[in-house]
This record gives sequence, structure tokens and C-alpha cells, in this order.
Amino acid sequence: MIVTGAARGIGAATARRFAEEGAAVAVLDLDEGQAAAAAADLGATKAIGIGCDVSDAASVDAAVERVVEELGGVHVLVNNAGITRDNLLFKMTEGDWDAVMGVHLKGAFLMTKAVQKHFVEQKYGKVVNLSSISALGSRGQANYSAAKMGIQGFTRTLAIELGPFGVNANAVAPGFVVTEMTDDTARRLKMDVDEFRAMNAEANPVRRVGQVEDIAAAVTFLASDEASYVTGQTLYVDGGRTL
Ligand code: NAP
Repeated sequence: MIVTGAARGIGAATARRFAEEGAAVAVLDLDEGQAAAAAADLGATKAIGIGCDVSDAASVDAAVERVVEELGGVHVLVNNAGITRDNLLFKMTEGDWDAVMGVHLKGAFLMTKAVQKHFVEQKYGKVVNLSSISALGSRGQANYSAAKMGIQGFTRTLAIELGPFGVNANAVAPGFVVTEMTDDTARRLKMDVDEFRAMNAEANPVRRVGQVEDIAAAVTFLASDEASYVTGQTLYVDGGRTL
């Protein structure tokens, strides 16, 4: 199985959960050294780390080829790699827009295109894409919000096109989860990290923030055969924030 952006955060927790369940895991991330270190840390029977920029077609194709060669195949893809370049629309640059679209949307497209030929050949595959509650609208995140809602449309279309070939495609839309990404947001807003987490916990009906394991559990379920009748869906894992 492949998890992109898995050197840390939600991706790393997802890779760990799959490893615990016995999967052979490929950790893809920008930096090969960090990807390899994260893979070695999983304690998996079989795990590899590969340097890959998901927004670059040549890099993606080479990475997927290596996975198939070194792990003997690919059955699950988790499109998790992500970045934020937040700013109010009037201050958002074309570069901020392109960077976010490039990693989230183009990245998911390139990765899925590269694995789908293996999935279709073997008549089996699971795609899980990371969306976000920001898809529903989020001040200062026109680029990220558009990309994350785009992921939902992409997921539904994958489900329609690839369903007849034994492939399920679903998305997970996390609410606030404690990672570097949300800590960075706190710093950008000039807020104390703990205060920012507490404020977000208070805004959730369950009165806590999400942990990376909450998301890994949902991703693992959607990639399991127990969920083989679930496809094209986006599962909000957000402590009730969007209710
Ligand atoms: P994170 O801690 O920032 O980790 C993201 C990982 O993606 C980093 O290791 C990063 O590498 C890697 N990455 C960035 N650009 C890449 C590229 N072009 N190719 C390959 N890897 C790349 O983020 P996270 O919080 O775990 O988020 C994971 C996913 O969940 C993202 O799609 C995010 O949008 C989504 N999400 C997160 C939250 C949340 O509250 N945390 C909520 C909703 C959705 P570098 O460190 O080298 O940049």
C-alpha cells in the first residue's frame, strides 16, 4: 500500500495503522531520507520510504514503479500529501493558488492515474483521498477549500469509472487534527498552540480535537473489504464540527 506525505502527521499514523494490520507499506514524501526514516520506524514486516513530489508526473511514475517492484504490487493508495498557503483572497498570490492545487488536486490525479493501471489489471484496488471540513468553506483558504471540495468530486468520479474494475474510492474529511499543519496555522494567526487547540476543542460537539489515529482508523476502514459496498463517499471525521 502507498501513503503519500507519510513522513509525519496523519500520513505517518495511517502508514503505522496499515503496518500494524500486516500490510507492506510504501511511505512517500518529498524528502527521501525522511520517508525512509518514517518507514523504518513503522516496525512493519515490509516497509520502504521513497522521495516523491506528488505534483510532478515523472517523480510519481518512478515512485509507483519502485513500489510495484520492491513490494511486489500495490492494492491501496492513500492520497494524503498536503500543504496550506492561506491568505485572504485579495492577498492570495497566483503562486499560493497553484502550489495548493498542484499538491492536493494534481497530486491526487497523478498518483491515482499511476496506480489505476495496476488496480484495473488485478481487478482490485482501494483509493482513499484526504479532503477536509474546509471544503465547506473556510476564511483565508480559497485555494485549499476549492482543492478539498475538488477532491470530493474527483473521488465520486473515480468511484463511477473504476467501480466496474473492482476499485473502491472514498474520501475522509477531517476536522481539526493535531499536526504540524494546524500548529503552523496557530503560529500564523499569532496564537498560542495550546490555546488554538483548546479553542477548536470547545467548538466541537465532542469537546476535543482530533488525533492522527482518529483519521487513520477511518482511512483503514474505508480501505478494508468490510467497506467494499461503500464507494464515492466522503466521511467527515470532525467531532461533529460541521453539524
Ligand atoms: P502535515 O503534518 O503538514 O504533513 C503533510 C506531509 O505532506 C508532510 O510530510 C509534507 O512534507 C508532505 N508533502 C507536502 N507536499 C508534498 C508533495 N508535493 N509531495 C509529497 N509529499 C508532500 O499535514 P497533516 O496535518 O498530516 O495533513 C495530512 C492531510 O490531511 C493533508 O491532505 C491535509 O490537507 C489533510 N487535513 C489535515 C487536517 C488537520 O487538521 N491536520 C484537517 C483536514 C485535512 P514536507 O514536510 O517535506 O513539506
